[in-house]
Amino acid sequence: MIIEEFPFAVTPHFAALAGPEKDDPIRRQFQPDPQEGIVHAGDLTDPLGETAYRVFPRLIHQYRDRALLKVTGICAGHCRFCFRRVWITTAVPFISDEELDPICRWLKDHGEVREILLSGGDPLTGSDEDLARLFSALRDARPDILLRLCTRVPVTDPERINAEIISLCKTMKPLRLVVHINHPKELSPESRRLLVSFVEAGIPVHVQTVLLRGINDNAETLAELFRECLNLGLTPYYLFQLDLAPGTGHFRVPLRQGLAIYEELKKLISGLGLPAYAVDLPGGGGKVRLHEGIIAGEKETENGIMLLLKGPDGRLWEYPAG
Ligand code: SF4
Repeated sequence: MIIEEFPFAVTPHFAALAGPEKDDPIRRQFQPDPQEGIVHAGDLTDPLGETAYRVFPRLIHQYRDRALLKVTGICAGHCRFCFRRVWITTAVPFISDEELDPICRWLKDHGEVREILLSGGDPLTGSDEDLARLFSALRDARPDILLRLCTRVPVTDPERINAEIISLCKTMKPLRLVVHINHPKELSPESRRLLVSFVEAGIPVHVQTVLLRGINDNAETLAELFRECLNLGLTPYYLFQLDLAPGTGHFRVPLRQGLAIYEELKKLISGLGLPAYAVDLPGGGGKVRLHEGIIAGEKETENGIMLLLKGPDGRLWEYPAG
């Protein structure tokens, strides 16, 4: 049932990093768990409320200066906490020219969009030809636009990325790589070598991390991860509070506990290695940085106790307290 809803998938490389224990921090990220069958009141099938900002089936325009393109519905492995699990399950193929053409025309007409997030799924699961076609089309349409390539492949399947991909990225600047890494164990020797290759090619590499219960929910593990990243030349960028996707509640660290972990983290690592702790306000409120001052209060609702978070629009948005 759980696997039918969100199929099991892991690369041999990532599986080999996992220890045999059930609570191994790598294993827990890809091994299906019966708790995924639990849907909490307040969980949302579209946790970020992206549908409301959809310009084309694959293009989301929520913030004035940037847009997000769902390049593919395919990932190298399936993270059990993924908030896009519904989209990933459809395994929609890499974007075609027919889908890309109107998006490129739209980008030409919207000079206020200065950055495009290439997301998915994972764009780096595409073939070299597909990636070259995508990058060239976007670059032809908008020579100035910043390409933000969001991927987990450098840690789940580093062998997939060859010298041609790095060269392609190099010719498509301005381009930044944003790599999703959650635990120091993910930084295998192969991944380290690959990430350093991007840095040496002059491609800035940022790291985003999801705060996950039982995996990285302590300051020491996070500090170790971010220290290692810094030493490789990568910039810790975001530490995300989990989105409210159905079947992922067992991964959620209560937000106030997350704030306490973040305070501890500040004592363990310098500003250079400290990412911003942030959450996408459920239902489309946008991304906000988390700190005590953002909590305006609590409210008892039919979905349990909710924290009231101040959104960028001045409205109060609900996020579960527990
Ligand atoms: S790599 Fe990203 S999009 Fe793909 S399953 Fe993992 S979290 Fe979801």
